[in-house]
Amino acid sequence: MTNLFQPRLLNGVFGDPGLFVRLRWERRALLLDLGDLTAQPPADLLKVTDVFVSHTHVDHFIGFDHLLRIALGRDRTIRLFGPPGIIANVEAKLSGYTWNLVEGYALVFEVYEVSPEKITAAHFPCGARFERVDLSPPSLFRGVLLEDPLFRVEAAHLDHKIPCLSFALAEAQRINIDPERLKGLGLSVGPWLTEFKRLLRSSAPDETIVHAMYPDITGQRFREVALGDLRDRIATVTRGQRLVYVTDALYSRENQQKIVALAHDADILFCEAVFLEQDRDRATERYHLTARQAGLLAREANVKELVLSHFSPRYQDCPDALYREASEAFGGPVR
Ligand SMILES: [Zn+2]
Ligand SMILES: [Zn+2]
Repeated sequence: MTNLFQPRLLNGVFGDPGLFVRLRWERRALLLDLGDLTAQPPADLLKVTDVFVSHTHVDHFIGFDHLLRIALGRDRTIRLFGPPGIIANVEAKLSGYTWNLVEGYALVFEVYEVSPEKITAAHFPCGARFERVDLSPPSLFRGVLLEDPLFRVEAAHLDHKIPCLSFALAEAQRINIDPERLKGLGLSVGPWLTEFKRLLRSSAPDETIVHAMYPDITGQRFREVALGDLRDRIATVTRGQRLVYVTDALYSRENQQKIVALAHDADILFCEAVFLEQDRDRATERYHLTARQAGLLAREANVKELVLSHFSPRYQDCPDALYREASEAFGGPVR
């Protein structure tokens, strides 16, 4: 089965952390964190429609300028989700430059500031010199940032001495139609199947009527069939992929609970492992995780695979030690 999410870590384990996630079959990508982006192909950055910023420490936000530079003059809207303060952070970045001669430029940043209770939005249109437009009222935040027909993005606030967002990308249920069985029922493929899949994903009642298409000498005709009946005969429904990104968090009881809830049964947990367990005091002081703690979280959350990032430069000569330590604690595959 081919996955919708095609993730790759940015900048290796010692560089600024971040995740580029191409969406297969779509000319579109998601970006988690805005660290150094200068090594990323501009064609990739131009696919980004949504950016999720964990927090605005410089190693997670300095890439905003590069993204701005690449996207400037393009006709696109980039949504940017971040923790409390993100609207002022973006405004301050944009006000650091001079914006005349940009009338007619169509680029817009839509910024969503996520507090534990609500999401506040502001727009920054390039054509209006990126002057801030506040949108009101705020919407309630109940753990979900974005609902797309193909996937959903969830977030949780972690304690990094400041609020730091962790993210989960959850692919919608996968629905596969068996062409042989479809043929066996005398039905033909067509746009009606898209509507059929949409009804299944929205958990419509089994009795919902579907207009199924069948070939007829006079052209295409439709037959009324119950949704549940048709599902049982022609469709296989499986869970979609779940990716979770956790960075910059203290190993506190509350953070542990939130991370485990977000990453539960995930296919891949991308997790920071800044320090070795021997330097745990330093990790606690800096509100970061050790490799062992990342491994314990992965085990408790029952994830299938753990991918480490954000190593401290002090381990430049011995990155293997971090993998070994995480792997021992996890007992599963670590990359
Ligand atoms: Zn940080
Ligand atoms: Zn960091």
